[in-house]
Amino acid sequence: MKISFHGATRGVTGSCHLVECAGRRILIDCGFFQGRHELGVENGRPFGFEPGTVDWLLLTHAHLDHCGRIPLLRTRGFTGEIIATSATRDLARLVLLDAAGLQDEEARRWQRRAARRGGEKEGPHPLYSVLDVLDCLQSFGRTARYGQPIQLGDGIVATFFDAGHILGSASILLEMSEGDHHRRVVFSGDVGSAGRPLMSDPTLPPEADVVVMESTYGDRPHRPLSASVAELEQAVRDAFDRGGNVVIPAFALERTQELIFHLGQAITAGRLPGLTQVFLDSPMAISATELFRRNAKYLRPDIAAEFARGHDLLDFRGLRFTRDREDSAAINRIHGGAIILAGSGMCNGGRVVHHLKHNIWRPESAIIFVGYAAEGTLGRRIIDGAEEISPFWERIRVRARIHTINGFSAHADQPELIGWHAATKSARTFLVHGEDRAMNALSRRLSKTEIIMPSLDESFAL
Ligand code: ZN
Repeated sequence: MKISFHGATRGVTGSCHLVECAGRRILIDCGFFQGRHELGVENGRPFGFEPGTVDWLLLTHAHLDHCGRIPLLRTRGFTGEIIATSATRDLARLVLLDAAGLQDEEARRWQRRAARRGGEKEGPHPLYSVLDVLDCLQSFGRTARYGQPIQLGDGIVATFFDAGHILGSASILLEMSEGDHHRRVVFSGDVGSAGRPLMSDPTLPPEADVVVMESTYGDRPHRPLSASVAELEQAVRDAFDRGGNVVIPAFALERTQELIFHLGQAITAGRLPGLTQVFLDSPMAISATELFRRNAKYLRPDIAAEFARGHDLLDFRGLRFTRDREDSAAINRIHGGAIILAGSGMCNGGRVVHHLKHNIWRPESAIIFVGYAAEGTLGRRIIDGAEEISPFWERIRVRARIHTINGFSAHADQPELIGWHAATKSARTFLVHGEDRAMNALSRRLSKTEIIMPSLDESFAL
């Protein structure tokens, strides 16, 4: 029995862990590396294992950094079964189709630039196409239900638990036997934060011999959500008083729906100025919002009940969905009183970059970051205090107010991770999905367990 790590090692993206037991191979997640531009190259490199030999892929949730390399897995020979919750399957479809579209767009943009320079066609090639995505979707097999064991091979059973991170997200227990050797291994996936408005609290994991655990926010506690909501509302009021707009780089899944929920509550209660317009300017986030409505049974029971009664908590007066490019471009003509939620959350592409271009040089506007921005992304540079940015090869001064409000995180903070880990009583812990500082800080706080921080492609006996 062994485990090897093929992504999210000493970094927060590219989750991909392979378990081998009794001649069978189980992959947990197959995510994209995101962030620095050169990481794009990393996605195209060999996996570090032979995709054709993998029997099952268990998918914890539909974030790109957990599912983004699935089409590549399939084009390189994977013929096994993908198992996920129904919400994860629906969302993964959306996320992967979006990723294929973005890659295609990026490649075309490079080629146009090269042509204008009079040079040869050059630049990145898409790693996969929309057709590759449609093909890989056929590999989705059985549907996982929280708490219900799924028989894989002889002596291998997987059970999904609600991770409370995004719609349909799961932690996974693998129970494995190889002769007399038995092992219980828990994969945290991404663990959610308790007390959030739409998602259920994470289910505490069962006891296990080994834990593979995320550590994104392993070095800090989050501020309470209520303080973050108040800070958001204040930042919006201040920007509007100054006559500016508010741009919120948005993560299409989860965070965006929570922000819509909070803004809806604030506007309905009269806590934001009367004529506030809220634009959700992301086709993917719009579709994700529709999937939230369709999969409302995965939300907190009280929220699910509201939806079942026909009360749409993700809609309010002043909210506008701008799917079309023309509608998106029209937002540029609004100089004050608009809240613009646009992807991507880390500003490494997507419509938000246009909105930054039109707002970040204006002292009256505000840019509000509500989530994690990986090292090397435009979002991180702005958060770290860049005085100037140059999207689209144009130098633009940063004069808008920059806010970072981390209480909206869909990730557990340090105390929550410690509590989650304690429930496993595990003697051996692999820390993944965190930057060095976060992993080191968390490792100092976990006691009675051997801590390992694996390197890329490193393998260990179980
Ligand atoms: Zn995630």
